[in-house]
Amino acid sequence: MDVTSHAHAPSRLGIFGGTFDPIHYGHLRAGEEVAEALGLTRLWFMPAAAPPHKARPGLTPFEARLAMTRLAVGEHPVLAVSDLEGGRPGKSYTVETLRHLRRELGPQGELYYVLGLDAILEIATWKDYRELFTLSHFAVLDRPGYDRSHLWTVLRGEVHPEFQELAGGEGFTHPSGSRVLLLATTRLDISATRIRTLARAGRSVRYLLPETVRRYILDNRLYR
Ligand code: ATP
Repeated sequence: MDVTSHAHAPSRLGIFGGTFDPIHYGHLRAGEEVAEALGLTRLWFMPAAAPPHKARPGLTPFEARLAMTRLAVGEHPVLAVSDLEGGRPGKSYTVETLRHLRRELGPQGELYYVLGLDAILEIATWKDYRELFTLSHFAVLDRPGYDRSHLWTVLRGEVHPEFQELAGGEGFTHPSGSRVLLLATTRLDISATRIRTLARAGRSVRYLLPETVRRYILDNRLYR
């Protein structure tokens, strides 16, 4: 699937990468709010085929995580699902995805990479992480349990000493012009880890994720 197929100007694409094992309302509500706040033309949920940070025994196969993501997103005017990372061998490095999209979009295409505060605080562990900020803007989702004030320290300390603060505490600008925007999305304290733990214990996961995904988990005996 060509994620830039909607790149007729003016377009503003978002990429929401993740393991999505499984996708839940924390992801979905955040995606909805980011797409609205940034006026995105498309927001692609992009499951990582081989997540570099979340490789663990029992990781659900890519095809099943993709299927759950498709069920969750369904028919939506802006949100969509991309299997782009499924077509690449080896680990799913975000920098490779963003390089690819940047090539497709050209220098003018607007691209936002969406990720949670927990994830961006660990950005220095990502492959070629300094380059990421020359390829895309970033939209950071608030996440309960993580301190926004640490972001400034990480960005200036580990990524580039010349990050500047945007007015009104909205976020930061990289010398390349890319922005890191802090979005005040609804803080939903839901994690995939918690859902897997509940399911494994035979407990209810209802209302933490869409009913279609809950049924898929039951039908395919996931997280047993
Ligand atoms: P796990 O518990 O298995 O680590 P997770 O719930 O964090 O998974 P991922 O698929 O790893 O889900 O997350 C994909 C992206 O979504 C990450 O950038 C993460 O920070 C973000 N994210 C996950 N859950 C939430 C949430 N409840 N609110 C906001 N962002 C979230």
